[in-house]
Amino acid sequence: MKSLANITENFVESVIREMTRICDARGGYNLAQGFPDFDAPQEIKQAAIKAIHDGHNQYPVTFGEPELRKAIAAKVWRYNCIRCAPETDITVTCGATEAMIASLKAIVNPGDEIIVFEPFYENYGPDAILSGATPRFVALRPPGWQYDPEELAAAFNRHTKAVIINTPNNPTGKVFSRKELEEIAQLCLKWDCLAITDEIYEHILYDGEQHVSIASLEGMGERTVTINSISKTYSLTGWRVGWAIAPERITSRIRKVHDFLTVGAPTPLQHATAFALNLPESYYEQLQARYHRARNLLFETLKEAGFEVSLPKGSYYLIAGTARLRERFGVQDDFSFSLKLIDLAGVATVPGSSFYAQPEKGKNQVRFTFCKKEETLEKVRTNLRRLVSETSITP
Ligand code: GLN
Repeated sequence: MKSLANITENFVESVIREMTRICDARGGYNLAQGFPDFDAPQEIKQAAIKAIHDGHNQYPVTFGEPELRKAIAAKVWRYNCIRCAPETDITVTCGATEAMIASLKAIVNPGDEIIVFEPFYENYGPDAILSGATPRFVALRPPGWQYDPEELAAAFNRHTKAVIINTPNNPTGKVFSRKELEEIAQLCLKWDCLAITDEIYEHILYDGEQHVSIASLEGMGERTVTINSISKTYSLTGWRVGWAIAPERITSRIRKVHDFLTVGAPTPLQHATAFALNLPESYYEQLQARYHRARNLLFETLKEAGFEVSLPKGSYYLIAGTARLRERFGVQDDFSFSLKLIDLAGVATVPGSSFYAQPEKGKNQVRFTFCKKEETLEKVRTNLRRLVSETSITP
C-alpha cells in the first residue's frame, strides 16, 4: 500500500486528551484537560434551546451569524479596546482551535517562520506542521515565566511571518504585561510580521492583573489576528464556538480557509453565544472569584504534597515541579510520573514534556488544571494527603 501523508507521520496524539482517556479508564479526578466539571450558566443553555425552537437550525452564514458578529465587535470594543467591523473583520469558527489553524493556513507559506513562546499549548506544534511553518521557540522561564528580551529579538528575522502569543497563558499562567506586548509589537513592526494572539483566558485573571490585547497597541490593529472563544469564559468547551478578528485583508483569507474546512460553527449555538456576550459585568466577577478560590486551594494542596509551585497570574493552569517527588515515586520521567499519580492518588495531570519541542525540558514538570468544583479539588487534596502519609513523602 502507498504510504500516507508525510506530515501526519510524525504526529503524536494529543497528550492532554490521552490523559483524559486514561483517567476515564482507570478512574480518577481529571486535573489534566482544561474543561470544567461544573455546568454552564443556565441562561445561556436556555438561549440555545430557544434558538433551536426559533428555527435557527440550518447552515449559518459561513463566516458567522450577523447577530453574533455584532455582539463580538461590541464586546471587544468594550473589553479589549479593539475596533473591528462585523461585516469584514470577524470570522466565527469551530472553537479557537479552528481559528488558529485557519489563520495560519491563511497567512503562512512553506518556509515561513513563526515564533512560539515555550512552554506552549500543545496544539501550536501540529498547527505549525499543518500550515508548513517552521517554529522558532523562545523560552519562558520559571518562576515568573519571563522571556529574555535579547533571545526574543534574536528569534526575529526576514523569514518571520508571525509571532504566536497566548495571554493569559496556557500552561504557565503567565499574563503578558503591557510593556512586554509593546516590546513584541515593536519587533513585529520592525520585521513586518503579524501577531496571532490566543486570548481565550482573557477573563481569568488574579491579583489585580490586567488583560492587554496586542491588537489595541499602536500600529498593531492592521497586523494582528485576535483569537477567542466561549469555551473558557462561559464554561462551554463542547459547543465549539470561537472566532478570529483581523483586518479585512487577512480576514478575507481566513474566511476562505474556514469555509472549506468546516462551513460554519453550529447555528443555534452562535445565537446563544450572542446572548452570552451580553451578560452583565457581575458574571465575569463571579467567574474570577470562583477561579481565585480554586487556584489558591490547588496551590496549597500541591505545596503541602511536596510539588514545587508558584501562583499563576491568569488562566486555570499551574505547572508544578516534580523533581523531589519523582525520586520518591521511583520514576524516570514526567509521563511515568503522571501515570503513577493516577494509580496512587487518582489524580490526572498532563506530563510537562507535552508543552516543549524538546521533551526533556519538561521532564520534571506536570500541568494541573483547577477548573473544577471545589468539592473535586477537596477530594484531590484528601487523596494527595493520604499519598504523602502512606508513602512517607516528606514535603
Ligand atoms: N485547552 C484545554 C487544555 O489545554 C483543552 C485542550 C483540548 O483538549 N482541546 O487542556
